[in-house]
Amino acid sequence: MSKTVLHDLFHTLFPDLCLACDRLPKVKSASFCVECLHRMPYTDHFKIKENRVTQHFKGRFVLHHGAAILRFSEGGMVQNMLHKLKYKGRLEIGEIMGKIGAERLLHSNLFGKPDIIIPVPIHAKKLKKRGYNQSTIFGKGLGFSLDIPFSEDSVIKALETESQTGKSRSERVNNVSDVFVIKDPSVVKDKHVLVVDDVVTTGATLEACCIKVMEAGAATISILCIAATE
Ligand SMILES: [Zn+2]
Repeated sequence: MSKTVLHDLFHTLFPDLCLACDRLPKVKSASFCVECLHRMPYTDHFKIKENRVTQHFKGRFVLHHGAAILRFSEGGMVQNMLHKLKYKGRLEIGEIMGKIGAERLLHSNLFGKPDIIIPVPIHAKKLKKRGYNQSTIFGKGLGFSLDIPFSEDSVIKALETESQTGKSRSERVNNVSDVFVIKDPSVVKDKHVLVVDDVVTTGATLEACCIKVMEAGAATISILCIAATE
C-alpha cells in the first residue's frame, strides 16, 4: 500500500483529528485541538496598516491592504499545515483557512470590500500533476464566506519558473515578470481585486502577478495569504 493511500485511510478512520498536528482530537466546532488553538500563530495584519506584507510590496504597485493570517516558521505547525494542503491533498485546510480569513477580513476596517478574488495561478503542467491549485482552494473558501465572486481562469501562469530562493530581488522579479498572462482583462478592469496565495516568502511571484493585474486595469489591489514569513 502506498504512503498516500495509508494516509488517506488514516484520515477516513480518524476524521476528527486536529488539522494542524494530526495527533489530538479536534475541539467541538473547531478544526484544531486545544493545544494547537492556543499556539496558533495569528498575525496582527488585519488591524495594522504597516505590516510585513504591506511593507514588503510598498512602492511596487498600488496596494490597498495586505495581510497574512498566520506567521510561517521553518519546521513549525503552519509549515506542516501548508505542506499537507499543497502536497497531501488535504484540501479542507485551504477551506478552513478561507473561512478564518473571511472572518478576520470582515472585522478589519483596512480591507474594504473587494469586488473579485483571484488566486496566484500555477502552471497547467503542475495543475495536472497535483490536481488542484492550493491557492484556489483557499480563495474559493474565502469567496464563499464573503460572498465575493471568485475567478480562477482570468489569470494564467504561462511559463514554468524555477525556485526564486537564493536570487536577488531584482533577479527574482525579472525572472518572473512575463510569467503571468491576463486572459480576460474585463474581469479585473476598474475593480478592487483581492489576490490570494498560500504563503509569502520572497514575494516575487505574487508581486509579478499583482503587477499584471494592475496593468490589466484593476483600480486597486489587496493581498491575502494564509501565511507569511516574518
Ligand atoms: Zn493539534
